[in-house]
Amino acid sequence: MIKIDLATLFPDMCETVLSESIVGRARKAGHLDIKCWQIRDYTVDKHRNVDDTPYGPGKGMLLQADPIYRTWEAVCAERASRPHVIYLSPQGKTLTQQRAKELSRAEHLFVLCGHYEGVDQRVLDEIVDEEISIGDYVLTGGELGALVLIDCVARLCPGVLADESCFTEESHWNGLLEYPQYTKPAVWHGVAVPEIVTNGNHAAIARWRREMSLKNTYEKRPELLKNAQLNEKDKWFLRTLGWEEEL
Ligand code: SAM
Repeated sequence: MIKIDLATLFPDMCETVLSESIVGRARKAGHLDIKCWQIRDYTVDKHRNVDDTPYGPGKGMLLQADPIYRTWEAVCAERASRPHVIYLSPQGKTLTQQRAKELSRAEHLFVLCGHYEGVDQRVLDEIVDEEISIGDYVLTGGELGALVLIDCVARLCPGVLADESCFTEESHWNGLLEYPQYTKPAVWHGVAVPEIVTNGNHAAIARWRREMSLKNTYEKRPELLKNAQLNEKDKWFLRTLGWEEEL
């Protein structure tokens, strides 16, 4: 089972999210071992300070190296393992489904959330293996990014979802976006579900889904088609939509 240790100044906020729904149930069922650590608990001064002003001109506060380093040491000691350390940062590589897939195979992750203006570079240089961003914008802290990362990784771990098809047929797994889906009632606001999804012909449904997936991708995120695995039938279908293959 994957172990994920999250270091933050806001463990209650993270715990609340990670106790809900699919991830919360998977934790209770023993498919995920996630623990939130309060960085402030690893301070040694009587005021339990975790931050200070940066050297040089400039405003704001920085998280100090030592409480973070001590948190990491406590995690390594309690788990008797050295985790792969991820720092959530707008300077990191943008999170992708592919990276989440790789991380879901890790044994132990330590996820560090920055705050204020960020973190003293020295502790990042000493313990961090990888910086991950959730997009090209700046948040006030790493918690939301860490929760996005953990949610995305957790659902790919064995036992968390009912079976693999829950994620292998979804957007971004094979480089395409998913096809449209429908549930009951069969007619809603006068609009019926496409006849093909109700006729029980599984081969025809599979082909329709593939074509709708190609259409969705072409219309919403055409740049993804460059790296998608397309067969001749797919290309023929895309050309009927106006797609031109880049050579
Ligand atoms: N001064 C930093 C910089 O310019 O690179 C930004 C610090 S940001 C205000 C505070 C914290 O929020 C960061 O330490 C990081 O943990 C988190 N954060 C901000 N934007 C993020 C993003 N796009 N992805 C992941 N984490 C982010």
